[in-house]
Amino acid sequence: MINLCYATFMQLMKEHLAHDVEANQLGKDIFEAITPDSEHYKFIPQYLSLFWARTRNIPSDIITSSTTPESKTQLLDYFSTFIIPDINPVLVDDYYGKLENLISNDDSIQPRRKNSLHKLSEGDKSKYLAEVLLYALTKQNKEEVTKLDLDTIPLLAQVDQKCPVCHEDLIKTVKGKTLYFFTITRIYPEFLDSSLKDEYDVIKPKPANPDDITNKICLCDTCSLNYLHTPTTAMYTRLLKLKKISIFEGAASSTLAKYELEEKIVDILDKLASTDPEGTLIKDFRMKPLDPCNKIPKDNYLLVKTIKDDNEAYFWFIKDHISQLDANKSSFPIIASEIKTAFLKLESEGHDQNEIYEALIDWIMNKHLLSASYKDAAHIVVSYFVQSCEVFNEITE
Ligand SMILES: [Zn+2]
Repeated sequence: MINLCYATFMQLMKEHLAHDVEANQLGKDIFEAITPDSEHYKFIPQYLSLFWARTRNIPSDIITSSTTPESKTQLLDYFSTFIIPDINPVLVDDYYGKLENLISNDDSIQPRRKNSLHKLSEGDKSKYLAEVLLYALTKQNKEEVTKLDLDTIPLLAQVDQKCPVCHEDLIKTVKGKTLYFFTITRIYPEFLDSSLKDEYDVIKPKPANPDDITNKICLCDTCSLNYLHTPTTAMYTRLLKLKKISIFEGAASSTLAKYELEEKIVDILDKLASTDPEGTLIKDFRMKPLDPCNKIPKDNYLLVKTIKDDNEAYFWFIKDHISQLDANKSSFPIIASEIKTAFLKLESEGHDQNEIYEALIDWIMNKHLLSASYKDAAHIVVSYFVQSCEVFNEITE
């Protein structure tokens, strides 16, 4: 589903102009109309293309200045002088039709707002386009990220999946979907006014390779955007410090951090997370008897019950899935030994059973940067390994 935002509004407009205008030129004209002159030096092609490419939201400074009466007048002038006369006459109905559809089909727009925009479309077109654009600026422009690429995992781990500046969670579950709200940010920024460059270089000169991981830090979209739009030496100093701390803490954050965990475990977690616990598949597995597990003293009632409940429901389901992995010549024994090693490490440090159980769940979650929605699946998997011998020792009577 395509939503109304700055990039979709601009793209649609560009496609319906009679003359071929360069995307960045259009973006520059619009940004210049809605911001004070002192900001215009920022609007160089590389900066403007971030918004066309939907890798950033519109900076809040730009949104704020777009609402002043002067900005509105300038924007109106811009549309009536340059855009309306240049809309391809053959495509004019297509253009407004598509724009109205974009608005109608966008579930994130409240019905009242849709109605008021549709009403405007019947009047002066410059006013209509200006209003739609002003509204589109406020919408999420950055494209949703639903997958991590491998390069970003270490950077996310360094900041413990939280924005180091504002402490916002960088991974969230929205309507059952895991979404990532971070932007890999250059500590020495990519766009720097020449007057600031000297001050920056005094603190720490520009790195030889600005694309190197040492010059990057994971921030939430908002903090990253603010820094991109308005870099300050104060924030530069702060980010340098945060990067230093994050590398140090990332290395020592957990005794388990250095232990590997097979990617295959994620397959199982995915299956578990997407399986209906009341479905027939699970019910059939539940019918099979299970040997009693005698590893946790009976007075640890809650842990005994958790592990028993998990295994009664899911043991055979997981075992079946594991045998499918093995049939594909997978390395399930490796997973088992990884879990066993992690368990032995925790046990040797003198942790009690509850701590070990929780630490193993956290370890699985952290290793694969899983969102909170995987927590149930992760504890089911740890319970499985308790039952199947890798975790905890049998109590001898
Ligand atoms: Zn932040």
